[in-house]
Amino acid sequence: MGELHIIDHPLVQHKISLMRDKNTGTKEFRELVAEVAMFICYEATRDLPLKEIELETPVAVAKTKIISGRKLAFIPILRAGLGMVDGVTKLVPAAKIGHIGLFRDPQTHESVKYYSKLPDDVNERHCIIVDPMLATGSSACSAISELKQKGVTNIKFMCIICSPEGVKAVQDAHPDVDIYCASMDKGLNEDKYIVPGIGDAGDRIFGTK
Ligand code: URA
Repeated sequence: MGELHIIDHPLVQHKISLMRDKNTGTKEFRELVAEVAMFICYEATRDLPLKEIELETPVAVAKTKIISGRKLAFIPILRAGLGMVDGVTKLVPAAKIGHIGLFRDPQTHESVKYYSKLPDDVNERHCIIVDPMLATGSSACSAISELKQKGVTNIKFMCIICSPEGVKAVQDAHPDVDIYCASMDKGLNEDKYIVPGIGDAGDRIFGTK
């Protein structure tokens, strides 16, 4: 079973409360998404492998550690996932970015893929999918399947708010994928929005409503 990691640091919880407020405007909301994404990414990259190197400080020779092994790719799910890219690339500036475009069929609420552009060597990378809301889990599961079809074996899923339904869907379909988020909310309403949630993340990031 994939693990669920909830980043309940006070700074993160404070920022999530500001995001929940319907009076928070586009500029501030967008900044908050990027900041919270950076904090969550800090935890999601905690297990990156290190190797020891030797170098000279101004004082002495030091044995010290740097990140080794496979490189990272962040995979935002379009469009709301784009809001998290600024934050995660602040921490890992050299990461490659792939894009997966999915829209939610308004009748079935199932996700439909309309775009996929991934780094050529994606199968050699640790991949972290980013999408602010893990609601039904349909988009998350489709994005994970898309990466697995390309041969990716090391996948994490990062969101800001998740629902118990979405977590269960991902854990059932992809038990090898850990989930990182800042809050697990009560559940979904009849329109499959997370309650209390933050509303439509894409609209709030891009100011489209
Ligand atoms: N997508 C959103 O943007 N918000 C939700 O609450 C659920 C899915």
